[in-house]
Amino acid sequence: MCGATESKALLQVPDHLFAQPGKYQIVQCCSCELVYVNPRPTLEALKKHYPDNYFAYTQLEEISRPLQYILNPSIKSSAIRRIRGIERVIGQLPQETKVVDVGCGLNLFLRYLGELRGCQGVGVDFNARVAEYVRKKFNMPVVYGTLHDAGFDNDQFDLVTMHEYLEHEPNPLQILTEARRITRTGGHINIEVPYIGGIPARIFRSRWSQFDVPRHLVFFTPRTLEKMLKRCGYQLVAVRTFGLPFVIGLSVLHSLGFNKLGGIKGAGWLLVGVAGTPFLPFVPIMHEFMSIVARAE
Ligand SMILES: [Zn+2]
Repeated sequence: MCGATESKALLQVPDHLFAQPGKYQIVQCCSCELVYVNPRPTLEALKKHYPDNYFAYTQLEEISRPLQYILNPSIKSSAIRRIRGIERVIGQLPQETKVVDVGCGLNLFLRYLGELRGCQGVGVDFNARVAEYVRKKFNMPVVYGTLHDAGFDNDQFDLVTMHEYLEHEPNPLQILTEARRITRTGGHINIEVPYIGGIPARIFRSRWSQFDVPRHLVFFTPRTLEKMLKRCGYQLVAVRTFGLPFVIGLSVLHSLGFNKLGGIKGAGWLLVGVAGTPFLPFVPIMHEFMSIVARAE
């Protein structure tokens, strides 16, 4: 973020999800305090770490029908939680709000935003198979590639959203600069990322599910994300850290030695749910994620 090269080593972390050989070093910049993977894989090398069976790419048809009945309401409620989180800060989103969702995956956020508020949005995703699926299945516009590939116009959007995306980005500073360029002054950005300052990150250390190297490359606190946003022309308006039920089950399973969970589908998530159940009463204090809203200045 700041260009300094001096950093201190924090942790050595293996690839828990796909059990590929080797370990990745997580360091903290001595100057700006940003925590990141160093050295960092090239974009070309990274592609191998996003296989088609990666659970983030699971398509609805790949989940059995009974499980869809359990999972669909939780997918919808997470979209609603995100919409409400934004509206708590900037007020109800009018129908004419122009939105781009970067790292849109199956485009579920924009689908529910359209359903609930009538807003038209465009998704951007790096996975060709997922982008094709969204176009065919939901008939929604998606750009396949990076935000830079999309080549949107200056000031084209009122709202940019990045949900569990920025931590995957090899150059977050560059991507936020591009996000600022395509947002009108006074527009907003909503970012949701893992929160490295929370209790789960501290107790699970290298087995914390969100140290998901080398897919996750940057780890934020409100302070470091605010610094980065400021550099890119944003003013932080609101920040909220929070826990999600059952996600901690993934860290529990990593700690018990389960190290090939990257390709789990529906039934596997039940196992994660069971492992996370004992932690349910602590969700209000076990903050694993943070969500911010910032204004384009
Ligand atoms: Zn730095």
